[in-house]
Amino acid sequence: MTGTALIVGASRGIGLGLTGELAGRGWNVVATARDLEKSKDLIALADTSGGKVRIELVDIAEAGSPEALRERLSGETFDVLVVNAGIGGPRDKNPRTVSHEEFCHLFVTNALAPVRLAEIFSKQVAPQTGVVGFMTSVLGSVEGASAGGMELYRASKAALNSFTRSFAARHKDKGWVVLSLHPGWVKTDMGGPGAAIDVATSVKGLADVIERARKDRKDGYFDYKGDTIAW
Ligand code: NAP
Repeated sequence: MTGTALIVGASRGIGLGLTGELAGRGWNVVATARDLEKSKDLIALADTSGGKVRIELVDIAEAGSPEALRERLSGETFDVLVVNAGIGGPRDKNPRTVSHEEFCHLFVTNALAPVRLAEIFSKQVAPQTGVVGFMTSVLGSVEGASAGGMELYRASKAALNSFTRSFAARHKDKGWVVLSLHPGWVKTDMGGPGAAIDVATSVKGLADVIERARKDRKDGYFDYKGDTIAW
């Protein structure tokens, strides 16, 4: 069963791949970028999609930008909303070495802004049948954090996971499925060339997880293979 999806953060990497995967399955996709100059692949995808992919602009971390997007998309309802946008932040730093500015930028982008955007679109996600997905990471699992490393990124995604569960609880009456999604370790600008899987493998799995969750109406923290991750 297809429908209309809003994919936020689709200029490159996993968001671009997921846009192409869903469009290929027959979905209509509104895909967002921040800067068209840096979104050549998304533009090419939209141009060859036969009208399935439409591009909009939003910077989730910029005050007023998600509200402006909502204005432009007023009157439209989405069956699936995926907030994919995220950043790696200062990977080698820790709570002692990170600056307040770096910390705030990372946490606003990865934790606050995705959930705030979903809140802003809460009247435009299909009630009872809609799916809201947040692209988190297995590194956001508090239970799995014993390996160490990437402490600030981990904490930002753990905060996103916490916000996501509160979001799901607050909107229980809407009947949405709310997903925390781990795409795998993927060969993108963020994942690097040595990552375990390519974008095509990740997004095929993610699209399967999203479509299955829409049908089964089951919330959760899932990886791209559909396996459950411990919070
Ligand atoms: P990527 O290649 O670096 O792409 C990041 C995407 O997020 C780009 O489209 C970027 O847009 C967008 N973005 C960043 N900040 C934004 C903002 N303030 N407003 C709007 N869009 C913004 O990363 P990726 O590997 O595809 O990762 C996508 C998501 O998966 C992220 O949330 C990441 O944390 C998560 N993830 C990735 C991996 C991995 O191995 N790659 C593993 C676990 C989780 P611009 O082009 O404008 O910068």
